[in-house]
Amino acid sequence: MIIAIDGPSGAGKSTVAKAVARELDFSCLDTGAMYRAIAWQALQDGVPFDDDEALGRLARSHEIAFAHEAGDPVPRRVSIGGSDVTDAIRTAEIDRAVSPVSAAPSVRAALVEQQQRIGRAGDYVVEGRDIGTTVFPEAPVKVFLTASAEERAHRRVRQNVDRGVGSVDYDEVLTDIRRRDDQDSSRATSPLRPADDAVRLDSTGRYIEEVIEDICALARE
Ligand code: C5P
Repeated sequence: MIIAIDGPSGAGKSTVAKAVARELDFSCLDTGAMYRAIAWQALQDGVPFDDDEALGRLARSHEIAFAHEAGDPVPRRVSIGGSDVTDAIRTAEIDRAVSPVSAAPSVRAALVEQQQRIGRAGDYVVEGRDIGTTVFPEAPVKVFLTASAEERAHRRVRQNVDRGVGSVDYDEVLTDIRRRDDQDSSRATSPLRPADDAVRLDSTGRYIEEVIEDICALARE
């Protein structure tokens, strides 16, 4: 069974997806981390962001792997082509690079195929932008999670402080969130939008625990 959680940057998808996975004993797939890993590799190899063919080759030839600790369904580390990039994919540089890289149709085709292969192997909470519309349109539970841009920027700053990586400047983070909202919802391939049958949840001003409970309740229905 797949639980699809989509929504814009910083809406709380990661926190919510991990908690729902632990609560229901599902595995958890962070598809944003996969696009970030490809952006990291593209920067590393000097692949231009407008070269769809070269980006597609890169995405098809580098394995993205998630490493778990025993007993925890939520992965702790992510690697690409054998390099651990868990922290390296959370920098402001990757925040800027990931939208153009993820707009490349050949990158999307390669990653959607990998995501479908991973998700079909078991019970998964899958979070991203196009999970309910494109990757798993047949998912029985689809949630579109939103929050105001300002609240999302506050949360992202707190998360970056906790992780010790990424920008902790509120204005910089807010500008990046707005820019990525624009880019992710205006791209030609799989733009960010709720699936017709998605349940829309707005987490602005709500405790995240309530949102987690709402989604677990949907999954148990
Ligand atoms: O979720 P996160 O902010 O880590 O995602 C990083 C970027 O990856 C997004 O801004 C978006 O451009 C891209 N993405 C995507 N499709 C997904 C997940 C992420 O295009 N399913």
